[in-house]
Amino acid sequence: MAKSILQKDKECYLCRRFYNLRTTRGLEEHHILFGRGRRELSERYGLKVWLCHNHHNEPHLGVHFDPAARRVLEQAAQFAFDELHGPGSFAEVFGEEI
Ligand SMILES: [Zn+2]
Ligand SMILES: [Zn+2]
Repeated sequence: MAKSILQKDKECYLCRRFYNLRTTRGLEEHHILFGRGRRELSERYGLKVWLCHNHHNEPHLGVHFDPAARRVLEQAAQFAFDELHGPGSFAEVFGEEI
């Protein structure tokens, strides 16, 4: 299993980012890009984060319900990926700007 390129600590990425809180209970792994074969690419390149259940899969806050939260993660993923692999790499691998 590849390691996340977005976070080192096992804590909720969005609790940290939005509230500067460290949440370590009930974490679920989220692949930032998903659907149409992108989940496998997310896994391979470590584009995944730990999220608490509320931020993951619970209406209306969860990234599987809230497009704005999803976009925060997608932009962070693109940034981290291009930092690591060079400018434009994200678009090359995922085929589009997000
Ligand atoms: Zn959270
Ligand atoms: Zn998920």
